[in-house]
Amino acid sequence: ATRATLEPFDGTGTTADGHRVPLLANVGGGEEAAVAAAAGAEGVGLLRTEFCFLNRTEEPAVEEQVAAYKAVFEAFPGKKVVVRTLDAGADKPLPFLTDATEPNPALGVRGYRTDWTSPGVLERQLRAIARAGAESGAVVWVMAPMIATAEEAGRFAELCAAAGLKTPGVMVGGPSASLAAGSILKRVEFASLGTNDLTQYTMAADRQLGPLAGLNDPWQPAVLRLVQATVQGARPQDAAEAGAKSVGVCGESAADPALAVVLVGLGVSTLSMTARALPGVAAVLRSVSLDQARELAGRALSAASSAEARAAVRAKLPVLD
Ligand code: PEP
Repeated sequence: ATRATLEPFDGTGTTADGHRVPLLANVGGGEEAAVAAAAGAEGVGLLRTEFCFLNRTEEPAVEEQVAAYKAVFEAFPGKKVVVRTLDAGADKPLPFLTDATEPNPALGVRGYRTDWTSPGVLERQLRAIARAGAESGAVVWVMAPMIATAEEAGRFAELCAAAGLKTPGVMVGGPSASLAAGSILKRVEFASLGTNDLTQYTMAADRQLGPLAGLNDPWQPAVLRLVQATVQGARPQDAAEAGAKSVGVCGESAADPALAVVLVGLGVSTLSMTARALPGVAAVLRSVSLDQARELAGRALSAASSAEARAAVRAKLPVLD
């Protein structure tokens, strides 16, 4: 088969044997959300709220935040929209929240951690998200970036509950969150793997540095093992627990069709990506059964390098020839 024989995306992510994998979009605001909805996205898997307020020297007022979030929610009535609270710091500094003089910004006070140095900003943001949700028809989930411990996840869940937000979750962007997924997911409802950061922190390689691009590759078997560990942590630990919690992927890895198949084979339940990648991922997903995806995931996991993992999987996906 060739690309020309692939079916176009009809807005429903599924494997050849009917295993559903909702295909969602990563967006940075209302305009991108409208484009994503038109492209057939089944919802939003990552709203990067910090993109709404880049370069601000002052915290945006709650009213302004409500308007920005509503613009996204209104593009997806009745659909899931996963809102990430401000992921300020490192590659995305927000002058009102982060300290530009930190020696190691990627390892500094960023993401959820800014709640420790700027108390109140997160609570006001959660209130704004809740109000925007109540005034629109979207199904709003909310997640915190840079969570490293179950204690942090628990505190975030409490803040969400106080704001009236019922579905709290975490981004898994570092090895600590991945390895502690079992205890973290006792405190929150879902996890979303940010494979851009997970790769950077697993490989100890700054994602912004070109010479490190070979390390910054989500096909690295070490990264795939942490994806696997996260999914395993989301499974019920004993018979008394309810079913597995949702583990999605919202990093760029989900936009690579061959890697998307591997992620599904590892047990990831949703994939979120830039809207233009949706048709290609949907088409390749439809060319494999869930069992085939699992088999390909096994090959990638046991490879000795990222190049070997990529080649082993691509060789078995004729639609990518
Ligand atoms: C990620 O880290 O994979 C992610 C999706 O977040 P960011 O916006 O930092 O790329």
